[in-house]
Amino acid sequence: MKPRAVILLGAPGAGKGTQARQAAQRFGMPHISTGDMLREAVKRGTPAGKAAQGLIDAGGLVPDEVVYGIVEERLSLPDCAKGFILDGFPRTLAQARFLDRLLEKQNRWEPLALNIQVDQELLIKRAAGRLTCSLGGEIYNTYFKPPKKEGVCDVDGGALIHRSDDNEETIRQRQAAYQKQTEPLIDYYRHRPYFHSVDGNAEPEAIARQIWAFIEDHDHLQVSGGDRTAAAQRTDGKRDSGRDA
Ligand SMILES: [Zn+2]
Repeated sequence: MKPRAVILLGAPGAGKGTQARQAAQRFGMPHISTGDMLREAVKRGTPAGKAAQGLIDAGGLVPDEVVYGIVEERLSLPDCAKGFILDGFPRTLAQARFLDRLLEKQNRWEPLALNIQVDQELLIKRAAGRLTCSLGGEIYNTYFKPPKKEGVCDVDGGALIHRSDDNEETIRQRQAAYQKQTEPLIDYYRHRPYFHSVDGNAEPEAIARQIWAFIEDHDHLQVSGGDRTAAAQRTDGKRDSGRDA
C-alpha cells in the first residue's frame, strides 16, 4: 500500500492547526506544519536547516528553494512512511507543483486535499471579537462568548485584552492577502480526484467529523491508474455536490 499525504487548506482562523493535530492523532500520522518543520530542521542542523538558519540570522526571508529542501528532508523521515498531514504547506501554486513532483518521486498516492471553507464575515468576527484574559489567558469573544461583565474575566476577574493587530481592518487585509495567494492553489486542487470542501462554519467537532470521514473513505483505496479515476468519480458524485457553493 502506498502511503497517503493529506493536505489541509484554509484561511487564517479557519482552525487548520487544531484540525490537523486531531486528525494526525486519530490516524497515527505526523502533523507537519511549516513553522515546526523549519524550527526542527534548524535545530537538527540538516543541510536545508543550516541554509535557512543563515538566512534568518541575516534577517532575510527563507526562499522557496530552501523551504523545498526542508519539506523533502522532513517527508523522508521514517515517521512519514505511512502518511502525514500537512498544515500550512503548500501555500502557493508553485509550492503545490513542487509537492506533486516530490510525492511522485516518493511513490506516494495522490494527496487528499481538504479545504476548510469559512464565511469571511465569520472569520472576521472570530478574530476581531477576540479577548484574552491578562491573568489566566482565558479566551472570550465579544460576538460569540462575551464575558458576564464587560472587560472582566469570569474566572479570575483579570482584565480582558484586545490585541491591537486584531482590528477589523488588519484582519480584512490578512484575509485578502490569503485569498489572493491561495485561490489559484484551491483551484489547482479543486479539479483533482481527491478534493473535498469542508463546511468550516460548523462547530470544531462537526468539522473534525467531516475531515475524518473523508480520510476514512479514501483510506482503503489501492489506487493506481484506472482505479484512481473510477474512485474519484464515485467520490465526486457522492460528496462534493455543494463544493462550488
Ligand atoms: Zn482570567
